[in-house]
Amino acid sequence: MYGRTGRCLRVNLTKGKHLVEEIAPELLDKFIGGRGLGVKVYSDEVDPQTDPLGSENKLIFVSGPLVGTGAISGASCNVVTKSALSGTIACAKMRGHFGAELKFAGFDMIVVEGRAESPVILSILDDKINIRPALEYWGRSTSETEVMYKENLDDKWAARETHLVSVGPAGERLVPLANVINDGFLSVGGAGIGAVMGSKNLKAIAVKGNHSLLIADGDRFVRVVTNLINKLNSAPFTSHSMSAWGSAFFIDLCYQKGMLPQKNFQSAAFVDSKDIGTEALSNTFALRSSGCFACPIACIKKTAVNYPFFKGKGMAPTYWAIGALGLNCAVRDMATIGIAHMICAEMGLDPIAAGGTVATAMELVEKEIADRDSLKLEFRFGQGEDLLQALTLMATKKGHAKRIGKGGQALAEEYGQSKRFMGVKGLSMAAFDPRAIQGMGLHFATSNYGPHHLYAYTFIEEVLGVHEELDPLTTEGKPELVKRYQDMAAIMDSLGLCNWPLMGLKFNNLVPMINSCLGTEYRADDLLRIGERIWNQERLYNMKAGFDHTHDTLPERFLKEPIPDGPAQGQISKVDEMLPRYYDIRGWSEKGEPRAETLEALEL
Ligand code: SF4
Repeated sequence: MYGRTGRCLRVNLTKGKHLVEEIAPELLDKFIGGRGLGVKVYSDEVDPQTDPLGSENKLIFVSGPLVGTGAISGASCNVVTKSALSGTIACAKMRGHFGAELKFAGFDMIVVEGRAESPVILSILDDKINIRPALEYWGRSTSETEVMYKENLDDKWAARETHLVSVGPAGERLVPLANVINDGFLSVGGAGIGAVMGSKNLKAIAVKGNHSLLIADGDRFVRVVTNLINKLNSAPFTSHSMSAWGSAFFIDLCYQKGMLPQKNFQSAAFVDSKDIGTEALSNTFALRSSGCFACPIACIKKTAVNYPFFKGKGMAPTYWAIGALGLNCAVRDMATIGIAHMICAEMGLDPIAAGGTVATAMELVEKEIADRDSLKLEFRFGQGEDLLQALTLMATKKGHAKRIGKGGQALAEEYGQSKRFMGVKGLSMAAFDPRAIQGMGLHFATSNYGPHHLYAYTFIEEVLGVHEELDPLTTEGKPELVKRYQDMAAIMDSLGLCNWPLMGLKFNNLVPMINSCLGTEYRADDLLRIGERIWNQERLYNMKAGFDHTHDTLPERFLKEPIPDGPAQGQISKVDEMLPRYYDIRGWSEKGEPRAETLEALEL
């Protein structure tokens, strides 16, 4: 079996038992692996009405077939479950080295079931599988967990090659904003997943292995990969911008186009990006480049901070962190944003969801709907100390932070102000104002995982203009663009490929690498069709969980209030205008339900 191990590790924490299973080849043909396989197995095994924090819920970690093979950016491991924040199916993308190590340990997938009686760590080390007591780890931050686990291993060389995914205090305390963190500092974008892992009393999973993977046509694979690396190394965004600053390089571009939200999406004014853009990032932090397994782009920027009140190492702020924890809370100090980002990683909080919640609270205070007495914390736009205090408290569920820890939607509803929550399907919006980037707005409204950019990279065309220069303000051709990028993300996640190389390559360029690795003869359209199948499978699950076309929308602010300032002043989102066409090209009814003939054609 090329690229894959074909094996699944099923772990039942209630019984303290595990089982090794073969993965059915038909499933791999139809759903490839990674996200597709995880979504299919999850949909088949978990009732859509299940309580995300109940012991019946399952948590799946699954690597795609290209992960660990040396395919460029073949590093992506997906985490599939039902989100404790949104109630939709969730599929978070894990970067770094965990996914490849899982394959080397002999597994494509881990299915975690049940709930341990007390905290445990699942360790899969060189064919030895153990569920170990982990009481002494409980309450520790994610980086402490990483360090302590490795220190406790006798073999120090093995410790260096061991990779962990863990929850922080937020996940342990079932905070719905919690995510999981791998390699001690990499945030796995998926609010609500950490709470599911915490509900199982599963503090961490550690993997290390030394199995090898088979490549169908090794000579051709090496030639094709070399060629792709050369292409990436000569494309401007992948050879320079991403390597120098990571996604933070979008700041200057998005700011100039008026799509970078400020003050809970109340403003998009362009002031001067020098205190918040790449210049500020380089001036504030000593940046060290780091990459995921087999990735020549190396967009992960590590750094260390050393202030009297906070010392730590971790990831420098990304675009999404600067947007959510910085500008959207009107905090413009890069050092504070960096600390906030590290607190999120240490505590296991999703930075977009946490920042969106704080911004909601700040607007409620600004409009005098809530005050310090009712929130038990100051929430003033622009005050970095309020932000840092709120993050720590919401992760530890102390005092009134219990309320804000439930997320921006629950908070806004509590004050009868749901219109002040800037999110979709319970999840806060990533830092793109959908009024200034119409395609992304349509994606935010229709995404199976809420308004997250990672599931359709339309900004590659709408902002960067890499393959086609599209005006972000027009709606023409956007339903087609959104469908294509949603399907593309679904298949790339399933193969285990990071989507960022699309900033330097076309999807078609990747097909020879995929075929030479797997021994297949796919055309690009065949793969996009599988991506479409996966998108529809997710949609079906969400429909059974209670979501319908009424959830395919954006907050009122984007539909009715024109952007008040900045380069995109006067724009509103035209999502309602684009939605019928989007449903039509997806083969869905006007109520957003896949038609019988669509499902039949997709073999669903
Ligand atoms: S582009 Fe960045 S996130 Fe993607 S695989 Fe490479 S280093 Fe990892």
